[in-house]
Amino acid sequence: MFDKILIANRGEIALRVIRACREMGIASVAVHSTADSDAMHVRMADESICIGPAPSPQSYLSIPSIISACEITGAQAIHPGYGFLSENANFVQVVEDHDLSFIGPRAEHIRVMGDKITAKDTMKDLGVPCVPGSDGGVPDLEAAKRIGAEIGYPVIIKATAGGGGRGMKVAQTADDMEQAFMTARAEGKAAFGNPEVYIEKYLTTPRHIEIQVFGDGQGNAVHLGERDCSLQRRHQKVFEEAPGPCITPEERAKIGKVCADAVARINYAGAGTIEFLYENGEFYFIEMNTRLQVEHPVTEAIFGVDLVREQIRVAAGMPLSFSQEDLQINGHAIEVRINAEKVPTFAPCPGKITQYHTPGGLGIRMDSALYQGYSIPPYYDSLIGKLIVHGRDREEALARLNRALGELIVDGVDTTVPLFEALLQEKDVLTGDYNIHWLEKWLDEALTNSTG
Ligand code: ADP
Repeated sequence: MFDKILIANRGEIALRVIRACREMGIASVAVHSTADSDAMHVRMADESICIGPAPSPQSYLSIPSIISACEITGAQAIHPGYGFLSENANFVQVVEDHDLSFIGPRAEHIRVMGDKITAKDTMKDLGVPCVPGSDGGVPDLEAAKRIGAEIGYPVIIKATAGGGGRGMKVAQTADDMEQAFMTARAEGKAAFGNPEVYIEKYLTTPRHIEIQVFGDGQGNAVHLGERDCSLQRRHQKVFEEAPGPCITPEERAKIGKVCADAVARINYAGAGTIEFLYENGEFYFIEMNTRLQVEHPVTEAIFGVDLVREQIRVAAGMPLSFSQEDLQINGHAIEVRINAEKVPTFAPCPGKITQYHTPGGLGIRMDSALYQGYSIPPYYDSLIGKLIVHGRDREEALARLNRALGELIVDGVDTTVPLFEALLQEKDVLTGDYNIHWLEKWLDEALTNSTG
């Protein structure tokens, strides 16, 4: 087992990893930019090291700085968290070239899944059901129009290198194709350096259901059921729950096995998430994330396992500490993402936290790097906390969420808490009757009503 792990991240996820290290008796090293000298992850780690100025390309994304930080501190392994370098195959290669361990899958798997076309081809070959669409990349507008006509509108044009909801455009009819095709290409090129796009049937009322998988890198893998992340704004998740309100135990066992078998066959190591759209009882693969997800705590809550601990164990060459039979679902969990943003415009709202109080009691978990007096810097993601609740069933989890939101105090900045308070008044949210478009529609209507 490692003696010392460096965490190449910041915020709540850096804390999350430090906590797992501490429970395992492993020393932790925090890295930080000059803007983060006072950040909680720096205070909580056993050691910390400044790796550059505020802009992330010069600090949290600077591979040479992170490798140097390992050499200086004697860390043997790197946990990348999510975002930043977590899905950068080149980084993994450099880490290994320096005889360090990367806590995550091998570079080849990150590379395959990072390109959405190769990912889809690979999954199709492994027997995972996919959304109908183009066979690989679409070279030009003529081909795009031909494919649109073949699979039928609406269609979605996606940048193969896309991520974070960017590089995707919907064409409702053939008339929209030119604009959508050109914009998706331009976004892919500008944001990810790759203009290649592919086309999929656009599903009109799907839910977003994702399966958590875990491989030991030796050909064994398990699944930890699904998370329903259908409540999204601009293709970004805001509210996640497990188990999915509409998934039956039979469906879970079936799709879970397909996913676990697929990753076992490629000797996948560590945590991964296979994302699907789910409509009329059918699953359609959209992408695989080769890292820990923001919403992993809902899975931890219902299975009672520590996924970061497991990631560290697998990276150290140890077997999984649970078998498929050990993994039994207990109750229901919900996570809400608390961002420093002003509702309803969602404009980022960095600033100083003047008062901070976290909810407590049975079934409550608050993952956050906030503290009273902390100034949220304007340079990074606006996620400032995740509130996770666990109850015996969905109804209890919802009641607990309502209670916990009432106890939470974050003063000094605007947050997305009012959004969740309002959502908990909605019948569709209470009954779990929503799809990936529900929240956008609801927000549109709320805005129209408030502006008269
Ligand atoms: P990203 O890598 O940017 O997260 P994904 O491929 O995972 O992109 O898609 C993100 C979201 O976009 C999905 O959760 C869903 O809301 C929407 N989406 C993606 N593909 C389709 C599709 N074929 N039909 C309808 N919605 C889609």
